[in-house]
Amino acid sequence: MDYQGRQRRLREVLSQHRLDALLISHLPNIRYLCGFTGSAGSLLVTKAGTVFFTDGRYTAQSRAEVEGARVVIARKAPLIATAEWLATNRGRFTGRKPCKIAVEAEHLTVATGGRLAKALPRAFRLQATSLLVERGRMIKDSEEIARIRKAVLLGSSLFDHMLRAIRPGTKEMDVAAELEYSARKAGAQEISFPTIIAGGKRSALPHGRASAAVIPSRGFVVCDYGVILAGYCSDMTRTVHVGRPPGEARRLYHVVREAQAAALAVVGPGIGIAKVDAAARKVLRKEGLAEYFTHSTGHGVGLEIHEAPRVAAGEKEVLRPGMVITIEPGAYIPGQWGVRIEDMVAVTERGCEVLTPTRKELIVI
Ligand code: ZN
Ligand code: ZN
Repeated sequence: MDYQGRQRRLREVLSQHRLDALLISHLPNIRYLCGFTGSAGSLLVTKAGTVFFTDGRYTAQSRAEVEGARVVIARKAPLIATAEWLATNRGRFTGRKPCKIAVEAEHLTVATGGRLAKALPRAFRLQATSLLVERGRMIKDSEEIARIRKAVLLGSSLFDHMLRAIRPGTKEMDVAAELEYSARKAGAQEISFPTIIAGGKRSALPHGRASAAVIPSRGFVVCDYGVILAGYCSDMTRTVHVGRPPGEARRLYHVVREAQAAALAVVGPGIGIAKVDAAARKVLRKEGLAEYFTHSTGHGVGLEIHEAPRVAAGEKEVLRPGMVITIEPGAYIPGQWGVRIEDMVAVTERGCEVLTPTRKELIVI
């Protein structure tokens, strides 16, 4: 991975914002910038160099993984160790005073921020910043796309096995367990979020995590799951029907499928992201179902299952080659049923590539 290039681009952002350094506490951002995959660390990116702080549990791992940063094994919490390092090395920061040390407002708790401010000498001032690293992460390079593609294909390869577990009377949890076991056996590091298996009336819950409820003899089952492979997440949803679907159910399914196709059709470089959301919503509105589409059309996926950009109304972001997003419209009639169809898609120079290969015609079990 091009850690040096990522850090270089981040330094450009820092100088644009007149910041002297960025203190990163969000682990996916740390991984993105230096390769560390452990659970405790902080990364200080200054104009002159990058220093990574972790604790004694990660001595060997950090030496093996971290690229483009000096490693400091600290006895204290990594963030406090970073503050102490700044105090000791304040001579390296020349120029205007106080030095502005950016922190990640989205990821730093008020308590930790307070402790950090206390531990820093007066020559430094903390500056809240937002999504400086995440904005870079939106554009995936070819190595990242390759990893995402593999994660998506692994996720899709489990679909038929999962279908065989969906039978009337089976607990949703047992379907999820079967799926997750097969994911591990197939080489997934872990699942990317709690598996959603929502049958019958529960299919109307957009985030119906697999529960002890049983699959009914007739009705939709929303299956939304993902795996993590080499650090990168996959995310897909298919909705299947157990028993013969009534005409109304078929209609609902086909409208959602049409909405998903309409959104996919507008994905391409230079397209305002709100337009993608609007395309899906338009189809549902025409069928009188707009009020039942209660979430946004999609989200970015990468090292995290939900990351920038959001694919939603009012978003100002413009699609660029290298972005990987989901397209997942749905319609949920409370107390009755719900349908969602979700693919992952990569924005390319000329348009887009749908990464999820799984079929989308209504599957009847
Ligand atoms: Zn999903
Ligand atoms: Zn999703």
